Amino acid sequence: MSTLSLDHVSKVYRLRNGLRTSQLKAVDDVSFELDSGQTIALVGQSGSGKSTIAKLILQIERPSAGSLTIDGHPAPRHAAGLRAYRKSVQMVFQDPFASLNPYHTIEHHLSRPIQLHFPALTAAQRHERVLSLLEKVRLTPGEDFAGRHPHELSGGQRQRIAIARALAPEPRILIADEPVSMLDVSIRLGVLNLLAGLQRSENLGVLYITHDLATARHFSDEIMVMYKGRIIEHGPADEVILHPREDYTKLLAQAAPNPERRLQQLES
Ligand code: ADP
Ligand code: MG
Repeated sequence: MSTLSLDHVSKVYRLRNGLRTSQLKAVDDVSFELDSGQTIALVGQSGSGKSTIAKLILQIERPSAGSLTIDGHPAPRHAAGLRAYRKSVQMVFQDPFASLNPYHTIEHHLSRPIQLHFPALTAAQRHERVLSLLEKVRLTPGEDFAGRHPHELSGGQRQRIAIARALAPEPRILIADEPVSMLDVSIRLGVLNLLAGLQRSENLGVLYITHDLATARHFSDEIMVMYKGRIIEHGPADEVILHPREDYTKLLAQAAPNPERRLQQLES
């Protein structure tokens, strides 16, 4: 069991236009805990600060204030501790086309994190792990995919590779930043179902970032609503959807009028 904890985290960006500088509070005093075995959806419109939270968790950005801990230990600030931290906390990005290097095979993409985090394994053992990761994301038989390059895969298949790569270090926490928003509508539900299955089988804690309330409700235990850098509402998924406390959440719910129908549309 692992717990990722954000305690009063803020991120201020300094913007320059000409001689003036101004400040933008992309994330404003955010606190929450994510346990392994749990999925929390982070919902909000574009620009509300969702990806900045992901970057802070991944230590791509440093908080301007507040602290991040995993199992009570502060997230490391230096390279030495960062590798161990990144073994436990992994990320799936929005764009499956940008996240894979076109010059490298799938085998290469999946072997690298295995080599980094499990240096004692032999080449043969690494290959076995690559195949088992491909099976986990349902790209079977794995041998058919290992030698391919990213351009020989569809968008959905690439996103499955990105998921397999994130799982390679055997993380406890997975941050999925709009993992299906760039995929064809017809294949979104398949990828989300895959993620949900892996969340259970690997006992992962998943932060599912999305602007889609219907899938947020369907795939998450809790929902957090973000607005202008702040988490304005956080509760059990059904509670937030059926009995929103904040006007903004009501507005979001109205914009996605019938979650059941949206899901059926996705399924068909
Ligand atoms: P979301 O993922 O919800 O769309 P982001 O976290 O990407 O939102 O962005 C939140 C706000 O922070 C936006 O106003 C965005 O323009 C700003 N922002 C994000 N990254 C930077 C950066 N590196 N420098 C300056 N402003 C940024
Ligand atoms: Mg974003």
